[in-house]
Amino acid sequence: ARGIDLTDVRALDALARGMREADARVWHAGPVIGGRLRGPSDGGKTGSDDRAQPVHSPADTEHVVGDVVWAGADDIEAALASAAAAADRWDATPGTERAACLRRYADLLETHMPELIALCAREAGKHIPDGVAEVREAVDFCRYYACQVEDEFSGEMPLPGPTGERNTYRLDGRGVFVCISPWNFPLAIFTGQVAAALAAGNAVIAKPAEQTCLIGARAVALMHEAGIPGDVLHLLPGDGPSVGAKLVTDLRVAGVAFTGSLATAKAINKSLAERDGPLIPLIAETGGQNAMIVDSSALIEQVVADVIKSGFQSAGQRCSALRVLYVQNDIADTLLTMLSGAMAELSVGDPWRLSTDVTPVIDAEARDALIDYADKAGKTYESIYTCRLGEDTRRGTFVAPRAFGLKNVDELGDEQFGPIVHVVRFEADEIDEVVDAINGLGYGLTFGIHSRIDTTVERVLRRIKVGNAYVNRNMIGAVVGVHPFGGEGLSGTGPKAGGPHYLHRFATERAVSRDT
Ligand code: GLU
Repeated sequence: ARGIDLTDVRALDALARGMREADARVWHAGPVIGGRLRGPSDGGKTGSDDRAQPVHSPADTEHVVGDVVWAGADDIEAALASAAAAADRWDATPGTERAACLRRYADLLETHMPELIALCAREAGKHIPDGVAEVREAVDFCRYYACQVEDEFSGEMPLPGPTGERNTYRLDGRGVFVCISPWNFPLAIFTGQVAAALAAGNAVIAKPAEQTCLIGARAVALMHEAGIPGDVLHLLPGDGPSVGAKLVTDLRVAGVAFTGSLATAKAINKSLAERDGPLIPLIAETGGQNAMIVDSSALIEQVVADVIKSGFQSAGQRCSALRVLYVQNDIADTLLTMLSGAMAELSVGDPWRLSTDVTPVIDAEARDALIDYADKAGKTYESIYTCRLGEDTRRGTFVAPRAFGLKNVDELGDEQFGPIVHVVRFEADEIDEVVDAINGLGYGLTFGIHSRIDTTVERVLRRIKVGNAYVNRNMIGAVVGVHPFGGEGLSGTGPKAGGPHYLHRFATERAVSRDT
């Protein structure tokens, strides 16, 4: 997808104008059923609905971005009934037409880029480069899956067989897919799940994270504008217990895609297992205790830049983010001095400002939990560095980036979804034990290694159990079609978003053998 050159003054001017225009609007989200944004009494204007709750910006909790009406039981039923009735028709729509809808939506995302970047900044606290990346990734998902649908979902593929027998194979949609997406990629992952499910021929009920319903509602409006029929795609804003939990137990649902916490993925898995009906797939992507190993042959300047990006960009709120940095003792003092120096230069503040490096965390609950963890960690672990917060952080939910030193990775508890990096030292002859310790954590999402010794790199890569390994570079920002993304173990059920086999997980495979 096209991006925006943030060093080009004219491009920046146009972006700033578009963002200001978007910012002057009051945004609304609510259940979108049959293509209509529903309000219970007024035929669709959620702004005048007394169930509407204000949406506050994490960067300034006094700033009201818009309002949202959460779905009620009647909305859930209406969405399920409509989607179930529409699924077969959509599946029978030629793959080329479904692909064309996704491509038109991708074009609309590009046209609306400044507005979407503004919404990401205000509602999700994303800085401008992250906003650009959100839109680009969403566009890439659509165009990538569109190509695959044309190639693989357009009719029957011939299979070999003996004389007198004609064998074919085809991929069909499964029915109604529920897509439950996270707030940390409110446009990209939201779009990726929905686009994959639609591409494969399913009707979709999307539940955005409750913190980012405005972006979800905007995305759905653009998908409908692109030609995806109203009864094929519905939006149900709300929290997990009142919306997600009800959806996944309904027998009209034929598959669930989920990205979020491990605890919720396990709860969904349990609900699906206990359903008194067909067995259906769960495509889950959860978190990670992602590690990076740095040996003494690494280029320290590059390591520092990659640690800063992997650990602190997006305030560490990526499943892929660096959580545990293993450094060979021989270079550890030098590296940590340089890392502290680089952390001192980080600008923590308003996402709207182009010079901001580290943005707020998503809400007060996340901030309080992270600060509580950091306070406890400060007493148990060695404190390596804590960043200062900027002037403009007082009214937002900010957490200062921190680095802590640990003796042993066994001391580490659950994943901390924020700007906190743990550092563990190791000796030159301990690399195999380090790999065992990382594998022993049970997660398997991303991993990084900085080493200029090829045999070390290859030995580690052969043994490390992760979905995405990165060598001599940072470990975030997987690109669609280039770095298919997804993990194993406690990190997810394995399907790789933006990879060649993702769509198959949303489809059912059918084989026909004809005697001729
Ligand atoms: N794909 C993103 C990345 O590579 C992370 C996705 C996530 O946090 O769920 O940084």
